[in-house]
Amino acid sequence: MKRIIVVVERVNGELNETAFELLTAARGFEDAAASAALMGESVSDAASELTRWFENVHVYDDPSLAQPDGDYQSRVLKPLIEREKPFAVLIPHTNTGMELAPMLAVRADAPLIADAISIEAVGQEIRSVRTVYSGKVQARVSADPTENGAIVSVRPGAFAVPEAPPEAGGSVHAESIPEDVAPRRQFVETVTPDPSAVDISQAEVLVAVGRGIEDEENLELVHALAEAMGAEVACTRPVVDKKWLEKSRQVGTSGVTVKPRVYLALGISGSFQHLGGIKGDPFIAAINTDSAAPIFGVADVGIVGNILELVPLLEEKIRARG
Ligand code: FAD
Repeated sequence: MKRIIVVVERVNGELNETAFELLTAARGFEDAAASAALMGESVSDAASELTRWFENVHVYDDPSLAQPDGDYQSRVLKPLIEREKPFAVLIPHTNTGMELAPMLAVRADAPLIADAISIEAVGQEIRSVRTVYSGKVQARVSADPTENGAIVSVRPGAFAVPEAPPEAGGSVHAESIPEDVAPRRQFVETVTPDPSAVDISQAEVLVAVGRGIEDEENLELVHALAEAMGAEVACTRPVVDKKWLEKSRQVGTSGVTVKPRVYLALGISGSFQHLGGIKGDPFIAAINTDSAAPIFGVADVGIVGNILELVPLLEEKIRARG
């Protein structure tokens, strides 16, 4: 029987869906039993909810665990891993999990597979698929678990949440924090995003602008077109670097991931860092003076031309159509 430990995350006091996604991933292993590890403060309600899904729920309930801290969590979990000797520890590849997974792998002397989108066991080996180069390429990786198993961080959304659970009636195991383990970092504050800031990740139509706009003043043309189209304005990194638009509008690997229906790319070359932030296969229309620009390789329609001339014309046409 392969033991799988699922590390459960809570967000704003609520169990994160990833806990159940990882349960689906764990159930994919043949002859496996999944247990949950839950860390936090006042987590008894969350623990009893988890017993409906998992047979065993290991709970660390302590004020010192109120805030996510990968370094501390990895030292708290290490004895559990050494005692339970799981085949795999599944951790959500979230901001917290990204920090916890490699630290736990080092402390438990276990191999790490990061950001997996599939997992299977083949004999005593774990095989996974993960994306690399901003999602352009899929890499197959395998790991040989040590006696403490293998650590796998799993991309949120890669597995479906199982159907509502039967009343499983699992049991809670109250675990204690090892005596010599204490947090080494102090939590200062949670900074929540400005609610009035634009959220381009939810926009259906994006008018995105790149360095081809040439001057900050010319952005007026882009804002006017976006308004006529009922779209949000997005941009490439150079536009943010020049402080012409806010960082919250930057699409790309170091910016925001967007999934609009329509993406209008104005004066954008089409670097892989920029394209890496466009998901969901939108309809892409591009305008660029350079017919060899890579953006034309991914665009559904393209116009070789000057945006400073074409954007006002486009706006006029769209407004004329009402
Ligand atoms: P350029 O590549 O300079 O392209 C400008 C385009 O405009 C050209 O194709 C040109 O032909 C065209 N043009 C010029 N004038 C006109 C005109 N009048 N009319 C029409 N077309 C015109 N970039 C991002 O966007 N997002 C990221 O998240 C991101 N993350 C990065 C992370 C790292 C670690 C690194 C190293 C880079 C990152 N970059 C990112 C930068 C990225 O590599 C590119 O430099 C950037 O995307 C290029 O932006 P651009 O297309 O606006 O500019």
